[in-house]
Amino acid sequence: MSPAPVPPRLEVRHLTRRFAAQAVVDDISFEIPAGQVTCLLGPSGCGKSTTLRMIAGVDVQDAGEIHVDGTLICGPGLTVPPEQRAIGLMFQDFALFPHLTVAENVAFGLSGTAREKNARVAELLERVHLSRHRGSYPHALSGGEQQRVALARALAPRPRILLMDEPFSGLDERLRDDIRDETLALLKEEGTAVLLVTHEPHEAMRMADEILLMRAGSIVQRGAPYNLYNAPVDRRAAAFFSDLN
Ligand code: ADP
Ligand code: MG
Repeated sequence: MSPAPVPPRLEVRHLTRRFAAQAVVDDISFEIPAGQVTCLLGPSGCGKSTTLRMIAGVDVQDAGEIHVDGTLICGPGLTVPPEQRAIGLMFQDFALFPHLTVAENVAFGLSGTAREKNARVAELLERVHLSRHRGSYPHALSGGEQQRVALARALAPRPRILLMDEPFSGLDERLRDDIRDETLALLKEEGTAVLLVTHEPHEAMRMADEILLMRAGSIVQRGAPYNLYNAPVDRRAAAFFSDLN
């Protein structure tokens, strides 16, 4: 007998969200295998953040289902609370706790003994080159350093999935590509499945294993970055990718 197929890390089926009778997320379906970085790419207002918020459990869908590792976490009549989903979140503004040190921020979501927590914090701070700032407060750090603390904090509890909403857009343009590359290296090292929201084709091309191209609440094309660039689904998609720098 062949072994049972491994379910995707994240599976979204027919997800729909309406505001005032208008579907801002309109029956979207996709899946993300373990270890893959998927970019949800599309112009402002197309429904990217709303999609992420439903997966995180901070907004409730009007229709559809979400599964993690084959287990239903929300669907008709069932909603697993956000804190029980083992899903990490990282937003544009980093949202570090200003009154906690760097090490305390990274330790915040961790359980286990003090020794285990300290070991995990030390491991991650070393990995993001911030060990010497462990006792600093967020305001004393640069934007790029704060971003790395936020990444370490999000990864510390080893989430099943990490959701990132425009995580680089608050950063100095000149630093962004270096920080994207460092972030991607750490995500791959940790083996985290990632859904990264961006409106920048360049970012998706640089970071994604797979791109989901979204427009007005729908996924209009999905595939490897190379395929979307070389065979855009229509003229609008072609124009979107044409101003890549
Ligand atoms: P994106 O992240 O792609 O820029 P959003 O998911 O934030 O887009 O928003 C998609 C659409 O849904 C927008 O038109 C936005 O105004 C609308 N929207 C988002 N949240 C709400 C809400 N709580 N109430 C009403 N409309 C909303
Ligand atoms: Mg958004």
